[in-house]
Amino acid sequence: CGIVGIVGRSAVAGQVVDALRRLEYRGYDSAGIATLEGGRLERRRAEGKLSNLQIKLLQNPLSGAIGIGHTRWATHGRPNETNAHPHATEQLAVVHNGIIENFRELKAELAAEGCVFETETDTEVVAQLVSHLMRSGLGPVSAVEAALPRLRGAFALAFLFAGREDFLIGARHGAPLAIGFGDGETYLGSDALALAPFTNQITYLDEGDWTILTRDGAEIRDAAGHVVARPRQTIATQA
Ligand code: GLU
Repeated sequence: CGIVGIVGRSAVAGQVVDALRRLEYRGYDSAGIATLEGGRLERRRAEGKLSNLQIKLLQNPLSGAIGIGHTRWATHGRPNETNAHPHATEQLAVVHNGIIENFRELKAELAAEGCVFETETDTEVVAQLVSHLMRSGLGPVSAVEAALPRLRGAFALAFLFAGREDFLIGARHGAPLAIGFGDGETYLGSDALALAPFTNQITYLDEGDWTILTRDGAEIRDAAGHVVARPRQTIATQA
């Protein structure tokens, strides 16, 4: 029930876990992280506490400079490692807060097109839908733009793409999402508190907004696809 994303300059896994720890107060049953390792998507996920995820990261470290992380409060599918986020396909990894209300219809539609599902979650339809759109020829940004209007429910999402070390995509639809601006690094988080160790420069996405996050900043678009400006706030920092 917490989302973190970092487009960083060096290994981000430690920072992602630090930020997830600041979202623990929301409650969760499992946690996970995905980074790009030489362009390849790699995940570590664990049932239970963040310390279980940290043990996996110690045994099998991740060194990618771009990544996403999640603490899950299961709504659809048991709280186990398979259902823990990030969910991934060959093309992308995604983390999700909230519920995709129409996941059954989407799952049936995608299964009929040949998509094979590995989990019991509502979230996996988002991964499969965007992947399907990419296989049909769309780039990552266009694929997310085409997928978002098809999703019903209240959610926040963050996407990481194989081979794309340069950007993440975040989307807000009924669940909050904040962008943090650092020095050559940019962050996504469920709230400003999660990002407080890294920056006090925060922009909250408005309802329906989605964003393309790079090391230099963030382009924000509204639900109609127009590039929009949202205010940047300086928040009180707490270590
Ligand atoms: N509905 C998703 C799931 O059950 C996300 C839950 C959450 O917000 O953590 O996996």
